[in-house]
Amino acid sequence: MHTALFAAVAAASLIVTAAHADIPSHPDAEAQALDLAEKAIALRSVRGPGNETPKVAELYRSALVAGGWADEDVVITPVDDTAYLIATWPGSDPSLKPVVISGHMDVVEAKPADWQRDPFTPVVENGYLFGRGASDMKYDGTLAIASLIELRREGYKPRRTIIIQFSGDEETTMKTSGIIAEKLANADLVLNIDGGGGTLDEATGKPLYFTWQGAEKTYADFQLTVTNPGGHSSRPHKVNAINELAAALVRIGNYQFKPEVSDLTRAYFINAAKYEDPKIGDAMQVFAADLTNAGAIATLSDNPETIGKIGTTCVATMINGGHALNALPQRATANINCRIFPGHPREAIMAELARVAADPAIKFEDVTAGSVATDASPMRPDLVAAMTKAMAAIYPGVPVFPSMASGASDSMWYRYHGTPSYGASPVFMKASDDFAHGLNERVPIANSRPAVDYYLMVVRDLSK
Ligand SMILES: [Zn+2]
Repeated sequence: MHTALFAAVAAASLIVTAAHADIPSHPDAEAQALDLAEKAIALRSVRGPGNETPKVAELYRSALVAGGWADEDVVITPVDDTAYLIATWPGSDPSLKPVVISGHMDVVEAKPADWQRDPFTPVVENGYLFGRGASDMKYDGTLAIASLIELRREGYKPRRTIIIQFSGDEETTMKTSGIIAEKLANADLVLNIDGGGGTLDEATGKPLYFTWQGAEKTYADFQLTVTNPGGHSSRPHKVNAINELAAALVRIGNYQFKPEVSDLTRAYFINAAKYEDPKIGDAMQVFAADLTNAGAIATLSDNPETIGKIGTTCVATMINGGHALNALPQRATANINCRIFPGHPREAIMAELARVAADPAIKFEDVTAGSVATDASPMRPDLVAAMTKAMAAIYPGVPVFPSMASGASDSMWYRYHGTPSYGASPVFMKASDDFAHGLNERVPIANSRPAVDYYLMVVRDLSK
């Protein structure tokens, strides 16, 4: 540990001490999590030539084996230019379904020229760990690994088998994610540490609230095609492929899918309302109580942060048509990208779009790649109790409530197999510090101590 880092950790632990009066610290686990995170960030686990994801897997594997996992219980499987890792800690009761902790090792590409610091050189400065993967999600992953090792060091014996797995292409094709979820489909539940998490107040830096993610919207792409016989542009006919398609796109653009709510999003609106700008917060409360309130729907629909939370959204993202400046178009195509509210099959949404387009000459085709439709995971009392109990001990008074994500994570593949999966990262951040996938990605290392406490409590509760 170098000096700057030591100072940062010391300062960071002062901040969290108050909330930790009764919880013993775990300095070995905290130090190991940061050390492993720095080593992992230094490995360029980006898809394509020179992909070092298999080296991240080796790094994690050696930590687990040194921490007491049997050699044969930590398996790395190569897939194309990447790899995935599944590590098993056998429980004493083999009749119980395992609890799975899910993460990923790959990161999004980062161009060093655009960054203030080299993205693949970890730097700890001003209480932050900087580097590609700092927040998505190498630090989260190593906090979980170090916590499991700590549990083992303390002599904990789980009744339920504990599996920790890392996919190797979550940010791109999700091929390994699909393979893992199929293999582990019999899990009792999955804690996906690449989702959920806590929010810090922008001004004070104090914890505001914690959400666990129980649902994700379904990604879909639909292609619309119009074909005409074409001809010379000096002799136009009534039907024109570009005009026909354009008219349909305007109808789709003006259409709003029926606003809806689930148990999970209702709980989110009621709890999150007080952290919003009062106008949005009021609309969230009103909408949660009355799905048909036109004023609330209008307010939430006008706000890009909330429109996706009240229903399915579809938007034109690409258009293509014609083949010459002086010819009638023989073909025009457009892509409509949808984010579907959980519970609707893609076919149903495509059929609804076709009704709205109201033109039988337009051919609709589902061209979605790499995504499957999923329902929300149930609001399981044991999961909610474990999250609530841990947060109450670590951050007394901080509200805990569910959320729905607009993008997909590895949970998509588990939910596809009917396995309950919950985004449950213990890391707290300011919204303004969220640079995942972007430049100068960073994470506050004051999270080390509370995150280890969280994993120790939650993993015990879900595996005992
Ligand atoms: Zn991620």
